[in-house]
Amino acid sequence: MTCKEREDWLHAILNSLPDHVFILDKQGRYIESFGGTYHSKHFNAESYTNLYLSDALSSSKASELLSYIDDVIASNEPKVVKYSIALQDHLLMPIEELEALENPEETWFEAIIKPVDNAIDDSNWVIWSVRDVTKNHLLEKRLKYLSETDELTGVLNRRAFQINLEKALSAQLTQSNTLSCIMIDIDHFKEINDQVGHFSGDQVISHVAKICQTAIRGSDFIGRLGGEEFAVILTNTCAIQAYDVAERIRQAIQNSPCSVGDIIINTTVSIGVAESDRRASAAQELMINADKAMYFSKHTGRNQVTLHHDGIPDVKIQHSSNLRIRRVS
Ligand code: GH3
Ligand code: MG
Ligand code: MG
Repeated sequence: MTCKEREDWLHAILNSLPDHVFILDKQGRYIESFGGTYHSKHFNAESYTNLYLSDALSSSKASELLSYIDDVIASNEPKVVKYSIALQDHLLMPIEELEALENPEETWFEAIIKPVDNAIDDSNWVIWSVRDVTKNHLLEKRLKYLSETDELTGVLNRRAFQINLEKALSAQLTQSNTLSCIMIDIDHFKEINDQVGHFSGDQVISHVAKICQTAIRGSDFIGRLGGEEFAVILTNTCAIQAYDVAERIRQAIQNSPCSVGDIIINTTVSIGVAESDRRASAAQELMINADKAMYFSKHTGRNQVTLHHDGIPDVKIQHSSNLRIRRVS
């Protein structure tokens, strides 16, 4: 094999690499571009040679990618980055290529960026090896959603709720704010199941979750802790303010019967409210306090809100029903 034949052969191999491989200078100019055959059928990496990142991508995206190049050159260490490119960020991508993307609205990439010796002068270059990881990204997102979400109601499940609560409490410690917990349990729920069946019971649980969800802000969150029991965390909210939110939730549930087919189910909830006292171990204590207040609401008549205080007694539940279920038509 002559030198020229070997050079052509190496070039052909580089162009057949499954991942895209770009050599970029400090200013984000494509010095060389190879490969990408596994993911892209219509994209010609070589056509990018001598263009700048800002020719191919929106200015905000180009400056994000330039900052990675700066980091790698400054540290002289390789870096692995994951980034997304939205449809509007692509300035040069052929339409057939965009149409072939897994999720054209937002494509996710993982790149290994390494400092590389510059064969021409002493300016700095990087080698940028990148692959489309959109499929995996979407799968991870879906799995994360499924692992955190209660299937019936779409609110957080118990585990995710507790993780969010720990995070909110740590944030509160650094920002010296107060957060409050509202514990909600549907009254006489066993009777709903007994009288109209488990499926209708499920609809009531979803109905209550929806009402709670609409009563809170984006910074608050709600979890289903078990059967027909929910907890809401209100960030930056003291117990008195949380009491008002809880009272609104209670009234909204009382005033919005749940329709399942031709059955109308009037339901109520008992609620307990507690405020966190900013101690590191507060998560469990906060939930216990809100729970105690909720049980006090149950014990003293149901369909009411109780604010936790130190003198609140531990109570036993009385199961006597005033549940109202009626069939329309
Ligand atoms: P109280 O007013 O004292 O809260 O009375 P209750 O009948 O609501 O009592 P409790 O909270 O102990 O009962 C909860 C019932 O919820 C028991 C269980 O059969 C039922 N349950 C638990 N999970 C589900 C579910 O996912 N769907 C339905 N339909 N029922 C459930
Ligand atoms: Mg109950
Ligand atoms: Mg319960």
